[in-house]
Amino acid sequence: MTDRKQDAPPFTPSALAGRVALVTGAGSGIGRAIALAFGAAGAAVVVNYHADAGRDEAEEVARGAGRAAIAVKADVADAAAVAALFGQVDATHGRLDVLVNNAGIESPPTPIERYPVEDFDRIIATNLRGAFLCIREAARRMIPARGGRIINISSVHEDLAFPGNAAYAASKGALRMLMRTTALELAPHGITVVNLAPGAIETPINRATLADPSLRTALLAEIPLGRVGRPDEIADAAVFLASDAATYLTATTVFVDGGLMRSTRGL
Ligand code: NAD
Repeated sequence: MTDRKQDAPPFTPSALAGRVALVTGAGSGIGRAIALAFGAAGAAVVVNYHADAGRDEAEEVARGAGRAAIAVKADVADAAAVAALFGQVDATHGRLDVLVNNAGIESPPTPIERYPVEDFDRIIATNLRGAFLCIREAARRMIPARGGRIINISSVHEDLAFPGNAAYAASKGALRMLMRTTALELAPHGITVVNLAPGAIETPINRATLADPSLRTALLAEIPLGRVGRPDEIADAAVFLASDAATYLTATTVFVDGGLMRSTRGL
């Protein structure tokens, strides 16, 4: 069976009970699904969103994620804003057990010779610098607490080249080495760090690609399971990685991609 009913979460309401989890960029897509799944599994969720325009969406997610959930605005690329975000977590909960670095952006496909440096800087600032800033703040809290989980939402493009999207692929490749290095630094403190790498998931980030029939057909031909994934399928893996079922999992990437990484293009 490769599918399940979306309204039947596979985790008990106590899988993350008593834990405080921060999910960045959680007003939409995969982050939204993770925040809702964490809430359903009993966690107190901090729903980070980027800009005022996303406040309503984030507050709706926080309401759906349970009574203990709050929505907090912060641009993850801004060190002062990230410090304030974690300060808000401290003030509200006094602890942090799980960080999910989910916030991420990409740009329209552009060949390298025409790739705008502004797009490169923006993507690296959000996808890489943002994860670095949040891991640093999380480590400052998790080290004295002697434990914690850090989950970075990377991509199959942490390993697969992505022609036309050099900055995105570079940001996710670097996120892999950020994960491996911080996992080794933090292991003695009982903190695990992993990447959760989605394949093609139907969300706002790839709406244009998936709405184009020829691009969608070409993409589906690359996916052994023959369909794009859903945000809740990434969220289920995130609940597992945050739970007591994943205590020995660190310094590695978990691909949730319908087999895309191992596609042989019909060979
Ligand atoms: P999405 O656009 O719905 O989600 C990205 C979220 O990040 C948005 O809510 C956005 O507001 C937020 N964000 C952007 N810049 C931010 C900033 N500076 N500070 C805080 N938040 C910011 O798309 P998604 O597909 O849900 O993407 C979530 C993550 O999953 C991204 O890291 C993306 O690279 C990764 N991913 C997605 C796919 C896919 O197929 N959808 C595949 C692989 C990896």
